Amino acid sequence: MKKHPATAAIHAGEFEHHKPSTSSVPPINMSTTFLVDPETPFSANLLEEDAPFIYTRWGNPTLKLLEEKVASLEGGEAGLVFSSGIAAVTSLMNYKLKSGERVLVSDIAYAGVREFGNHYLKKMQIEVVPVNMSDLDAVETELQRGAKLVFAETPCNPIVRLTDLREVAKLSHQYGAVLAVDSTFASPMATRPLELGADYVIHSLTKYMGGHGDAIGGAVVGSKAEMDKLRATVLIHQGAIMSPFNAWLINRGLVTLPLRMKQHSENALQLAAFLQDHPNTKQVIYPGLLSHPQYELALRQMDLFSGMLTLQVDNPVKVLARINEHLKTVHYAVSLGHHKTLMYYMDTEALNESSFQMSSTQMEDYRRYAGDGIFRISVGLEFIEDIIEDFRQLLD
Ligand SMILES: *Cc1c(COP(=O)(O)O)cnc(C)c1O
Repeated sequence: MKKHPATAAIHAGEFEHHKPSTSSVPPINMSTTFLVDPETPFSANLLEEDAPFIYTRWGNPTLKLLEEKVASLEGGEAGLVFSSGIAAVTSLMNYKLKSGERVLVSDIAYAGVREFGNHYLKKMQIEVVPVNMSDLDAVETELQRGAKLVFAETPCNPIVRLTDLREVAKLSHQYGAVLAVDSTFASPMATRPLELGADYVIHSLTKYMGGHGDAIGGAVVGSKAEMDKLRATVLIHQGAIMSPFNAWLINRGLVTLPLRMKQHSENALQLAAFLQDHPNTKQVIYPGLLSHPQYELALRQMDLFSGMLTLQVDNPVKVLARINEHLKTVHYAVSLGHHKTLMYYMDTEALNESSFQMSSTQMEDYRRYAGDGIFRISVGLEFIEDIIEDFRQLLD
């Protein structure tokens, strides 16, 4: 029976994987190796469906627990966890793509994903095509030219523009491609891409899933057959394995994911409304605001609007100069999805040069969201008035 997310976040995978222990809370299993029967095959290529644990790079009870919990929250058959979010992305790409093939990637996505495409995938002679995934005509045009994989990120980092996953999944399949979705900004409490037709979901578990800023990790969720192959052909051999200690921390963080996401969303909506009305701000983009260019899609595709928003001001240099003195609660730092409110400035030209390398039409659309630059804000779980007070002081 499918568990409600509030229950799955607490129970999924838990008890099965720490028998014969009777502890209510899962113990950490840090063992790198396991006692095996002399009959057990050694090679990863020979691993059977119900193979016992042999060596932690191939599988471990604490990792398995987390894999099952993440899969359960996404409504997928199976999950795999990795040492980082970027390892989850690059492992899936290594698994799906070979030289001569094309991959369509959100033109605006986590900068590391775009940089991986621009450098490593190009070197492997894989053609990386950046596409504005909010433009379905652009997606279809590129699909007509042939693609193996479509890689969409929604809401995308940093401008929180959305991709209509149901439509992009339909188009991808129509043209023989598969769809992978980086759902880090949404979390399964907002959007479950597999239910909308995606073939794979990816998370940086470092962000909302872990939620406490103390463990780096990543995950891919998909069909059991595909996850078995991804494990055997890439994860085990490229070795981007998660530490069981991090898995234990992230599993502990996931317990409160449903509660945290509600509060992140509530706080973000209040901060977004405050900033939007503030005389010294220029534009605020948040999927939960009527002013978001895709508000209708946000209502359709997101059960809650998550905690990520962007702020544009007339004079970012002045605001940046006030940060050290005026931020008492908010941290000026990269990353997101933590209990603490984080913000970071992203200059449009600099980001384009280092990572996005957009065409002029792509840049035009980006500027509609971000102008010359934006403060990306990950709204935390602090008392909302304390968060707002920091911005009141900062923008004064
Ligand atoms: C942070 C992030 C990643 C990379 O994750 P790491 O855990 O830092 O490796 C990938 N995608 C998105 C959307 C992210 O925000």
